[in-house]
Amino acid sequence: MSASSITLAPLASVQNVDLRELCHALWDWKYCEQCNNDKLCETATCPWQRSNTLQPFFNYYKHAAEFCLPERPGSGNYALRNHLDLFGIIKLIRKRPDLPRSLLINQYFTSPQYPHMPDGVEQQKAFNVAIKIMNMIDCSVDGRSSSDTESGFGPVFWTDDKTHHDFIKAKFPINDSPRLREASSIIKKQLTATQLKKIGIGFEATHDLKNHLKFDPATGIVELFHLVTYLREYLLATKDVLPTSDGIPREPIPRQLALETHDSLRILFPLAHDSKKILQTLASRDGFDFNYPDCDLIDFRRENEEDISYHYWGTRLLALYDELQEPTPRGVFQWVQRRTNQRHFMLLAIAGTVFAVLSLAIGIFQSWVSYQQWKHPVNTASI
Ligand SMILES: [Zn+2]
Repeated sequence: MSASSITLAPLASVQNVDLRELCHALWDWKYCEQCNNDKLCETATCPWQRSNTLQPFFNYYKHAAEFCLPERPGSGNYALRNHLDLFGIIKLIRKRPDLPRSLLINQYFTSPQYPHMPDGVEQQKAFNVAIKIMNMIDCSVDGRSSSDTESGFGPVFWTDDKTHHDFIKAKFPINDSPRLREASSIIKKQLTATQLKKIGIGFEATHDLKNHLKFDPATGIVELFHLVTYLREYLLATKDVLPTSDGIPREPIPRQLALETHDSLRILFPLAHDSKKILQTLASRDGFDFNYPDCDLIDFRRENEEDISYHYWGTRLLALYDELQEPTPRGVFQWVQRRTNQRHFMLLAIAGTVFAVLSLAIGIFQSWVSYQQWKHPVNTASI
């Protein structure tokens, strides 16, 4: 790399051509001639025609790319020198989900395209960024995510000796308890966002797939994976993928997991139901991608996928259903906070502060009066 090309944040600038390469790396998109020549796409059948619906996902990518900062800024010996380096890692992981992480890393960074081996920490970081983009899982440099330890949801990082297939399998365990099967139909009918809101439960968007439907009883908040359009494209891209002879799927995440994530929003926010308003409010906040129910515009389902069972998210749906049956008591402060909008809550807080200041002033005045009475007693005997 020449000195003139050294930059402090090599992935900070994201052009359309980079986004097209991203979609190709993730979903094997094949483009029309205009796209290949970086011209305005006018071909109705070209997948880039759907790119406008992917803006929230592209924003997610841009944000992640912007913070791909080198360990030793200015050295130029980076693991991720441009977007193509990152896409190369994604393609390699997709191609070889049967190889341990250490072998993948070694294979990638000893290739001729890297005349100088990048720093070891940077190599690990580069693979974690790839996981963040292709799997929607947050990892820190040592593979640990801050929320992993409290979630108790599988191992906390992709270790060097594990394959990507094993990593995902452990990260998203399957649960098929008899109670889950029994409650399945009633959950699908009764567990709506409106019902949950009535017992004081709120919703927050997350881009971390493993936090989907994670419920915190202390705060009464449920997290929802919001990149719905990403899920649709993923499901469309894997619709016709046949099982492999070695039994190891080549999809970055199980198709069933993507389907459950998508369709669990259907349970909480049924069509033609007032729950939809809650989703619309969430969608309008900070550009979240709850593009539902419009998300069925592309035909991403296989024949047998209209009414699915919940093997990955069933336990979390069941926990929400249990909360609906027996709500956890939460503090009065949180109760008030959730039932008032932010403006009213601020007014309440200001009123409380004014009341406290007035009480203090009255107390000081009363003390001063008492002190004066003690210092200058009235001689009643002379009257
Ligand atoms: Zn095109």
